[in-house]
Amino acid sequence: MKIIVLVKEVPDTYGDRKLDLETGLADRAANDAVPDEIGERALEVALTYADKNADTEIVVMSVGPNTVPGTLRKALAMGAASAVHVMDDALMGADLGLTGEVLAAAIRRTGFDLVLAGNLSTDGSGGVIPSIVAELLGVPAATNLSSVEISEGAVAGVRAVENGSVNVRADLPAVVSITEALPDARFPNFKGIMAAKKKPFETLTANDLGINAEDESKGRSIVVAVSERPARAAGVKIIDEGDAASQLADFLVQNRLV
Ligand SMILES: Cc1cc2nc3c(=O)[nH]c(=O)nc-3n(C[C@H](O)[C@H](O)[C@H](O)COP(=O)(O)OP(=O)(O)OC[C@H]3O[C@@H](n4cnc5c(N)ncnc54)[C@H](O)[C@@H]3O)c2cc1C
Repeated sequence: MKIIVLVKEVPDTYGDRKLDLETGLADRAANDAVPDEIGERALEVALTYADKNADTEIVVMSVGPNTVPGTLRKALAMGAASAVHVMDDALMGADLGLTGEVLAAAIRRTGFDLVLAGNLSTDGSGGVIPSIVAELLGVPAATNLSSVEISEGAVAGVRAVENGSVNVRADLPAVVSITEALPDARFPNFKGIMAAKKKPFETLTANDLGINAEDESKGRSIVVAVSERPARAAGVKIIDEGDAASQLADFLVQNRLV
């Protein structure tokens, strides 16, 4: 079985993340670039299956800038067999539609039985890439799964919904996105880190995938304006001298909070 895992590189969430006010993109120089944890969990789902099924091939794939090879090398060290990186300046600021198109084209080129992704990235938080990819590939999308069971020819899992849960199942090929309910990823060991250096690593451009990022006939969303979050102002302190309740009500009304 060939499993493609989509791993996005994101600014480290341990620091304060910043937007570049000129471009509206994440200021990548402001933080360390790391693999998104949800993508690592998706990789763990694939690796756990591969541990028990020797004929499994795992390919990790990412669209992003020139720091992404570090993220993909870590995924290789964890146990993936090969990596595909799509890097092209024409894709800088790519919206969800274009990113989905690029990923679907790269997945089709690589070949797959199952695509595993996170449900929501930590930075963009669009939450729709897996569905876009499934639609473009013409395969079922089993999204937001909190448990995943892969078998020969099918995938099943549970999606938590308000007041309950739904059991879903799809024949392969299919796309699955997982939630943070799935286990943490394993750490790469020394042997894995050394082995990763020799594993196949392909770098592709949009052109290699037959994609014209500037095609104006396709609707694209662009950043129109971006502004920094205002600095936190000191809060209002209400001293209770018998009229705290009315002061509080006035505050809420003045600030249109009720
Ligand atoms: C040169 C360049 C610069 C970029 N700069 C930025 C930037 O500053 N900020 C930004 O948010 N994005 C950037 N991107 C990536 C791209 O624009 C976003 O990944 C895309 O819009 C997805 O949005 P999302 O994270 O909200 O997706 P979501 O739908 O929230 O992602 C859900 C899941 O889909 C998969 N996925 C999503 N994006 C990718 C990806 N790129 N590669 C592999 N798997 C993915 C992951 O498994 C993820 O968990 C850049 C890309 C390039 C080529």
